[in-house]
Amino acid sequence: MGALDDQALWVNDTIPGGNETSEVSCVFPPQLLAQVANDIVEGKIDGSIVGWYHSHPGHGLFLSQTDLDTHMGFHQFSPYALSLVVEPSTGEFGIWIYENGVGVVQLPVSYIHII
Ligand SMILES: [Zn+2]
Repeated sequence: MGALDDQALWVNDTIPGGNETSEVSCVFPPQLLAQVANDIVEGKIDGSIVGWYHSHPGHGLFLSQTDLDTHMGFHQFSPYALSLVVEPSTGEFGIWIYENGVGVVQLPVSYIHII
């Protein structure tokens, strides 16, 4: 959850999902996404859906084809949607965004500020 402000995308909350998981895949249930969207409309949740996150334990930082498809699904909610991948075995993470005319690209670390 977050908002776009002054040319920066602020991520200030998360909603856990993806209870349909295996070692190599996860699914954000469409029903949960619809519930979150409804809660936003009804004012029960502040902010907007700005992306999604998941981990790749022991597999590294990348977006699989499924991840890219998921990213484009979130892109429908916001052109600034991001995908965050965490590699818990190293503590590293990566963020991907959609860049017009290019496609989904990894955001340079210099663009990321953790407050
Ligand atoms: Zn993935």
